[in-house]
Amino acid sequence: MRLVRFFAEGKASYGVLAGEKVRPLAGDPFQEGVRVDDREIPLAEVRLLAPCLPSKIVAVGLNYADHAAEVGQPLPEEPVIFIKPSTAVVGPGEPVLYPPGVARVDYEAELAVVIRDTTRNVSPEEAPAHILGYTCFNDVTARDLQAKDGQWTRSKSFDTFAPLGPWIETDLDPNDLSITLAVNGVLKQSSTTRNMIFKVPYLVSFISQIMTLLPGDVVATGTPPGIGPVRPGDVMEVTVAGIGTLTNPVR
Ligand code: MG
Repeated sequence: MRLVRFFAEGKASYGVLAGEKVRPLAGDPFQEGVRVDDREIPLAEVRLLAPCLPSKIVAVGLNYADHAAEVGQPLPEEPVIFIKPSTAVVGPGEPVLYPPGVARVDYEAELAVVIRDTTRNVSPEEAPAHILGYTCFNDVTARDLQAKDGQWTRSKSFDTFAPLGPWIETDLDPNDLSITLAVNGVLKQSSTTRNMIFKVPYLVSFISQIMTLLPGDVVATGTPPGIGPVRPGDVMEVTVAGIGTLTNPVR
């Protein structure tokens, strides 16, 4: 099932996407479960939004062995995590704004895990029951500031630096999905989630021992090799097999 958030008829709603039709939900898929009403709205008549409203995005650095080699870092013994703020989230099609004074802005294609309910101190075995589904994520990064600052908050947190979407796929095995990123149609990253050092259930468990994950929170699972810069006017496309493509222009 594909869960969307969309804007139509003057308001934002959750819905189920089936083909080219959106069936609005009576409430939200976290607190109230998936209860569709009888109406159908043509997809062409809605604007898709980021598919959830995370209170935080917990992102994992260096989770693909070949990306660690690419940036000259040793393999981590445990996940390296950082936070991206909720205010950085944009939805499919929304522009990523190139900040003034930044010398290099990079794309990073990632598989995003969407948390279903309040999740604290769960084991890897318990973690899947707390996952609503999966979507695409672009961990946009001001690479020059990441190096200059020695920590990552500023470089990862600019408004619009967290494109998310286009929808949440609820029926998906995350363990061997093709993940790619293209800039202006040219392939830049291509890997599979099979190459993750720390797998999804382990990551959710690990993070839940540190901080409580709330409904709609996002775990961004790290990027494969091939990171590189974009410029204003470029178009970035993150594609994860079984989900779809998240497209965002740079402005
Ligand atoms: Mg990343």
